[in-house]
Amino acid sequence: MDMFMNRRSFLEASAGAVTLLGCSLIRTPEGRAAPAKSPGKSEKVAEVPVLWMATGSCSGCSVSLLNSASPTIQEVLLDEVLPGKHVSLVFHATVMAAQGHQAMELLQETRQKHRKQYVLVVEGATATEEEGLYCSVGERSDGRPLTGFEHVRDLSRDALAVLAVGACASFGGIPTAGPNPTGAVSVPDALQRERIETPVVRIPGCPPHPDWIVGTIAALLLGGLKGLDLDDQLRPRVFFDRCIHDNCPYRGQFESGNFAEHFGEHGCLLKLGCKGPITYADCPIRKYNNGTSWCVEAGHPCIGCCHPDFPFDDSLFAPVTPAQLSFPEVYPPARADIVERQQADKSTYATLGMIGVAAFLAGAGVTAAARKLKAEDGETEAPASSPTEDQKEE
Ligand code: SF4
Ligand code: SF4
Repeated sequence: MDMFMNRRSFLEASAGAVTLLGCSLIRTPEGRAAPAKSPGKSEKVAEVPVLWMATGSCSGCSVSLLNSASPTIQEVLLDEVLPGKHVSLVFHATVMAAQGHQAMELLQETRQKHRKQYVLVVEGATATEEEGLYCSVGERSDGRPLTGFEHVRDLSRDALAVLAVGACASFGGIPTAGPNPTGAVSVPDALQRERIETPVVRIPGCPPHPDWIVGTIAALLLGGLKGLDLDDQLRPRVFFDRCIHDNCPYRGQFESGNFAEHFGEHGCLLKLGCKGPITYADCPIRKYNNGTSWCVEAGHPCIGCCHPDFPFDDSLFAPVTPAQLSFPEVYPPARADIVERQQADKSTYATLGMIGVAAFLAGAGVTAAARKLKAEDGETEAPASSPTEDQKEE
């Protein structure tokens, strides 16, 4: 048997694997499959089409999505995980079996039939130089390339909402780092440039936690756009309103000034470039890989992949100044009686200290006066440390 697979056999095998999953990824214009029935599924289920576009990306966000553990990606795609709603992932170039014209037709059909009803997910930054030619995602019928920029622009216009998934789509990320010859921009910047007013939600991270992606889509389907509580950076507050530094297990090491100077040493990782003090995300609580661990727990500084400035102008490992430290709200407010007692204690100690100093000075004064009187009486004063005549003889 041939050990190597050509493209056709790979796609056939992929299609088989996806068919085994029974998910709606295999839907093509010719062969539509209703989502698999699951026990207890209500009769009336609204299909919500989701189009997942990958532009300037490494596909890490897709891999993270497929790692979703609770619910699993199979449950998201097969089951009615939300009452009366079913996510229909119509287009995802990395994992779908449909290809070529079939895939493109499906995309356009969804855009026309479900105007302002589908959710567009964009993974990756959008290249804009040379009319987007640095990122070609398909081909027109006349053979001209269809660019990622055109896709993002056209599909965004008719979407219910656009989810910018990952650091690159959210804030530009690594593709926009200098010198940026492709003219890559984030999704919100691309939409602003084209004056498209479709609501955008940022889900940053490199990669974002699968809960952040699935949870945001679920909240959007359940409560609509109003159901999403976003911060001033358009991120869902539920996932991005906590400072990493405030929930880090090394916080005690930070407070006591115990810093690791080299990788592998125990201690707070601030001097090794940890961006925890300026980054907001719930990584320390949620943890990656189904709650197994997260960056700092694995011994690596947080590189601030959810921060708007990621990957930063300096090195990722340049230390930051934790200028705006915030303290967890769980700290109880200072009790007035304790504060009063502490202040009283302080003044008592201060008084005792002053009495002690005065007593010492007074004692020193008495000793000096006695020595002076002895000297006046003609007594020779031997220094305490000098040996006596008897001692000398011995
Ligand atoms: S600087 Fe980093 S390692 Fe240190 S306490 Fe803050 S988040 Fe944790
Ligand atoms: S700890 Fe920092 S680098 Fe790690 S995933 Fe969270 S925000 Fe990104």
